[in-house]
Amino acid sequence: MDFDPPASVRPLLEKIESFVADHVLPAEAEVFEKGFTGAAATLDKLRAQVKAAGMWAPSAPKDIGGLGLTLVEHGLVSERLGRSPLGHYVFGCQAPDAGNLEILHKYGTAEQKQQWLAPLAAGELRSCFSMTEPENPGSNPTMLSCTARKEGSDYVIDGHKWFTTAADGAAFAIVMAVTNPEASTHARASMIIVPTSTPGFELVRNIKIMGDPGEGYGSHGEIWYRGVRVPQTNRLGPEGAGFLIAQERLGPGRIHHCMRWIGICERVFDTMCAHITRRKIADDKTLATRQIAQAWVAEARAEINASRLMVLHAAWTIENKGFDRARDEVSTIKFYVADVMMRLIDRAIQLHGALGITSDTILAHYYVHERGARIYDGPDEVHKMVVAKRILARYGR
Ligand SMILES: Cc1cc2nc3c(=O)[nH]c(=O)nc-3n(C[C@H](O)[C@H](O)[C@H](O)COP(=O)(O)OP(=O)(O)OC[C@H]3O[C@@H](n4cnc5c(N)ncnc54)[C@H](O)[C@@H]3O)c2cc1C
Repeated sequence: MDFDPPASVRPLLEKIESFVADHVLPAEAEVFEKGFTGAAATLDKLRAQVKAAGMWAPSAPKDIGGLGLTLVEHGLVSERLGRSPLGHYVFGCQAPDAGNLEILHKYGTAEQKQQWLAPLAAGELRSCFSMTEPENPGSNPTMLSCTARKEGSDYVIDGHKWFTTAADGAAFAIVMAVTNPEASTHARASMIIVPTSTPGFELVRNIKIMGDPGEGYGSHGEIWYRGVRVPQTNRLGPEGAGFLIAQERLGPGRIHHCMRWIGICERVFDTMCAHITRRKIADDKTLATRQIAQAWVAEARAEINASRLMVLHAAWTIENKGFDRARDEVSTIKFYVADVMMRLIDRAIQLHGALGITSDTILAHYYVHERGARIYDGPDEVHKMVVAKRILARYGR
């Protein structure tokens, strides 16, 4: 067993590490100050540099201009990009576009690929994914109420969605809507491409996340679809296949997220260690001399290392044995790594004292914007329940 990153991506990983350190981290202050839209010129310049250096869209297939990395390889990239909240965006592999790109590549018709996939892959436009509804549990999306009824050659969509990440400024949404109400639970919904310029598409607001509404790419939209009419040719994949495609979208997505969270952990770990070795709490003693701080450092190191091994193993299992064989691993990493990350961010804030809750370090940004990790892509509790059920079934439950 070789624990080194595959030789095929080692040079790329080094290049990415340097680019993130030299160009992406220095751009953070401007983006936090002006937002993704206000700092678009800087971000566009960085994206152009990434393209010119042959590092664009690492997870996308080669035939649409990506690097076509395997899941394990992209996992390692995702960890390095996760060291900055801008990393994935600058490299063209940000959620939700990366997931939308995957399903468009697999299920899109030639016309859909030309109209939506090609410009999405090139970073010329953005997209969003609209499944969760305020009135229904996102943890059980089979209960969704948004409908798409057929009228002539069109679908007419009516529904209320929220937490449609990055809807603000997106060119199109992939909407989950009930097309076959009589079908069995998992065959009722389809995915439909809706240009956001279609009459009846209304972005009501960017939802405030712990006080911050965000904007542009860094936002979560509430949307009404009122009589939104699109041609039936905008359906992605077969009718009733919405949940099947959603599952496919989530599998690799969880690996990408978890490795991104590990990148965040490493950044927070560095921030915490640097602070406690500098911060004097007595004339001749720094915070790093205290056992409680030392214990948190050691525990964090162990948990981050464990997380990385677990996620890479899950990615390897998906690649080598198929998603079905990796179900337990994928659920386990989702709740384990999210928990490791949130505990570490909280402890790092604690050790920074008042400074920790200011915006003078990256910690408060992570505390606000990464708390959702324990909720999206399946809340922790659901993953725990699913894993435990499968384990206990082997014991005869
Ligand atoms: C930052 C962020 C970004 C998101 N982006 C998108 C997006 O782009 N597109 C999109 O469609 N959605 C998105 N979502 C929505 C996300 O998918 C849902 O929030 C998630 O599925 C949970 O659904 P819910 O919020 O309705 O919570 P509910 O389903 O109401 O669940 C609430 C809580 O109940 C508990 N719970 C639920 N079911 C069980 C159970 N079976 N057993 C025990 N406990 C349970 C859990 O603690 C859960 O957190 C995003 C969410 C966040 C936070």
